[in-house]
Amino acid sequence: METTRGRRVFIVGLTGGIASGKTTVADMLRESGAMVLDADQAARELTESMLPDLVREFGDGIQAADGTLDRSRLADLIFRDATARCRLNAITHPPTFRRLRRELEHLERDGAWAVVLVVPLLVEAGMTALVDRVWVVACSPESQLARIARRDGLSPEQAALRLAAQAPLADKLRAAHAVIDNDGALADTCRQVRGLWSALGRERPRGLALARWTQLVDHEVGGWMNEERG
Ligand code: ATP
Repeated sequence: METTRGRRVFIVGLTGGIASGKTTVADMLRESGAMVLDADQAARELTESMLPDLVREFGDGIQAADGTLDRSRLADLIFRDATARCRLNAITHPPTFRRLRRELEHLERDGAWAVVLVVPLLVEAGMTALVDRVWVVACSPESQLARIARRDGLSPEQAALRLAAQAPLADKLRAAHAVIDNDGALADTCRQVRGLWSALGRERPRGLALARWTQLVDHEVGGWMNEERG
């Protein structure tokens, strides 16, 4: 029998475009028994500690009257400006990925054999080396636009701007080990998700990605941000 010491947690990176269905799929995976970590949620939990750096970089216009971060103002700023997105990432990514690494290490120590890590910009940020396998949630741009408009109450122009700020689906598909088609009914998506999760459970692969985190997160995150700028 494998000892806890010999185990290496296997990291599935779950990604996909805006409103493609990442959260929906993550919930289905949780229902199937998966441990799920969410990079956006980790970043949100760190917002308060990052606020002084964000205000220094983007000005106090990104603060609400009560001094907290006004996310929609920051979102409007960065969706229009690729350089601003890079500056935002340079501030938010290192602490976020350090937090995620700590959580992954804890889960590994506690004996988890696999973790699903939801990272919306996994491919754009060149971070696929931080996971053992990439699963992409795919749906058509038309469905994405309709879902963004319905969920967030945005105009078609605002929705299109958010979509245009991301890499095209084709880039994500090139990095994918598996694709979850979420253009159809939720029941179809659920069948695919359960199939992928149970196949992984039968395979029980040994993860290698976490060993790379120390070097990559501490020394190279800044480098990726610069590359993105080019
Ligand atoms: P974001 O990138 O904005 O965080 P996301 O990729 O996590 O979004 P979800 O929040 O899961 O996407 O889904 C976006 C919206 O589309 C939600 O309102 C969700 O209920 C809806 N949705 C997801 N999948 C389907 C589907 N197969 N059919 C209809 N609606 C769906």
